[in-house]
Amino acid sequence: MTESLLITEPRLSLGHFPTPLERLTRLEQHLNGPTLYIKRDDLSGLAMGGNKVRKLEFLLGEAQQQGCDCLITAGAAQSNHCRQTAAAAARLGMPCHLMLGGAAPARSQGNTLLDQLLGANLHWCGEHRKGEDIPALKASLVQQGFKPYVVPYGGSSRTGTLGFMQALLEVQQQIETTAFSHIVIASSSGATQAGLCLAQQLWQLPTQILGIHIDKEEVLNDQLQHTIVRLAEAQIEYFKLSLQFDSTQVHLLDGYTGAGYGVVGEPEREAINLMAKLEGILLDPVYTGRAMAGLLDLIRNGRFNADDRVLFWHTGGTPALFAYADELSPA
Ligand SMILES: *Cc1c(COP(=O)(O)O)cnc(C)c1O
Repeated sequence: MTESLLITEPRLSLGHFPTPLERLTRLEQHLNGPTLYIKRDDLSGLAMGGNKVRKLEFLLGEAQQQGCDCLITAGAAQSNHCRQTAAAAARLGMPCHLMLGGAAPARSQGNTLLDQLLGANLHWCGEHRKGEDIPALKASLVQQGFKPYVVPYGGSSRTGTLGFMQALLEVQQQIETTAFSHIVIASSSGATQAGLCLAQQLWQLPTQILGIHIDKEEVLNDQLQHTIVRLAEAQIEYFKLSLQFDSTQVHLLDGYTGAGYGVVGEPEREAINLMAKLEGILLDPVYTGRAMAGLLDLIRNGRFNADDRVLFWHTGGTPALFAYADELSPA
């Protein structure tokens, strides 16, 4: 199986690729553990970077192919996915509607501020941060003569998953020596992990993909693992791949969700501070801060061997730092 299967899929160029792959020398020394690298998808472009641009390149390729003329998506108030979708819409000259959780803030900060600068229409949906209100909005836009494309929650559909199959090939092309023994990512809506897992199996790489669950609600409802398997199965069916994929291949760690989605605690604070002060790299409060806290815990508890080569995937999210000034300012 070659990478040619991805080339035939419609794809727009929206980000800056390949993103840098860097060694974390000072963090390695500090932890005295395995070799550590970081994949800088925080530098992927499209209005301050992040993992969603990889999915959007394929999703909006599909939208364009279908002749759609406006975008709808949903997320939390500080959704990076919504911000990158708004930026892509601006670039393509399409109206963009964001269905955001919560109520309109008195003062826009972080991603919400950027959504507004990017010209998106914000709809505040209270408890409904996962797109529950999309069908009603879509119907009303259709009535007004639009042909909306609904970008799935977190960009996680079969099409979005293509972005992270492609991403693993990108890493393989960047390394000259042996493949990574582990890749650690923050996992939430599923396509990042599904794409990496599927690519790892397809190209038979000796790499374990470790997802750090960041959303307590998902853990309680036991949903994410099923979502990842479903996304992988849809891809296998679409390309008629001779691969078996089941939940035993999905490694999800669910001990790091703290007080729930988007709540910064001591582990996230430590991870953000350590990376900033040792490496000059900014993590985000919701996803990568939590995933790095998980990785630090795994290293300290001897999960890896000294000769392991671990890649931490920086999936972005840094604009949210500015919405967490109270939680992150030094006391
Ligand atoms: C969306 C997001 C993730 C999670 O990716 P999924 O594909 O939704 O699991 C991780 N980190 C950041 C910064 C994100 O915005």
